[in-house]
Amino acid sequence: MKVDILTIFPDFFRGPLDHGITRRACEMGLATIAVHDLRVFTHDKHRTVDDRPFGGGEGMVLKPEPLFECLESLALSPREDRLAAKAKQSVILLSAQGRRFTQAVAADLAALDRIVFICGRYEGVDERVADFLADRELSIGDYVLSGGEIAAAVIVEAVTRLLPGAVGNEASTRQESFTTGAQMPNSNGPNSTCGSGGLLDYPHYTRPAEFRGMAVPEVLISGNHEEIRGWRRQRALEKTLRNRPDLLEGAALSDEDKKFLARIAKDRG
Ligand code: SAH
Repeated sequence: MKVDILTIFPDFFRGPLDHGITRRACEMGLATIAVHDLRVFTHDKHRTVDDRPFGGGEGMVLKPEPLFECLESLALSPREDRLAAKAKQSVILLSAQGRRFTQAVAADLAALDRIVFICGRYEGVDERVADFLADRELSIGDYVLSGGEIAAAVIVEAVTRLLPGAVGNEASTRQESFTTGAQMPNSNGPNSTCGSGGLLDYPHYTRPAEFRGMAVPEVLISGNHEEIRGWRRQRALEKTLRNRPDLLEGAALSDEDKKFLARIAKDRG
């Protein structure tokens, strides 16, 4: 996958993308990330990338010309091809007004060959960029950041870890929070894990078994895989009900899950 990031702060990305799985994915050749300085695509002495808003109002707005010129230099497919079903390229404008970025969107993006991120700043980006240049607008959540750079880094990290081969144990990314689809990893041996099926992940513990008087739940040391799986599923259900009840609506729930939820909902009262 090739990733391009258009920004007025190219140095911002030295750091966030240079660690962990994102770095590994680049070193393994699974992803290449190119950061483009929008000021290179200006033509005035001051390398101006922003201007005052038409109609008046607060702050400054990113000008369209450097963004259009920078994107044109990348030799992408034409926009109508990129908007077609099964297209392998996407130009994403980071925006608080965009559709919400979720794990499901991350999985869709991980199937592409090329993603271009446009990072806004100031009051935002001239709307002609959203209307005629970008293919979609994505928001990483219902809050306002000062720029699209962190949002782009968030999406790059969430997507690159889904590229086949990026994470050592691929089954682990299929079981995590929010991930629907395969409930169980393909494995012949005893299996004590369970996929989240769209819920939050179950809790994880490691050594020491007892730490400052806090003991690891006994069931995890029992060696009984079926019991461990059942216990993990219940903890995932409990935590989802407590922290993200909205996720229960779209989740794949067994009759046993539903009974358990009904019981704890009744106990809570
Ligand atoms: N005036 C805009 C906010 C501009 S913030 C509004 O009220 O909607 C400046 C830039 O930060 C935006 O152009 C966008 O690129 C980025 N940004 C801010 N919040 C974001 C979010 N939640 N998700 C993604 N990008 C965001």
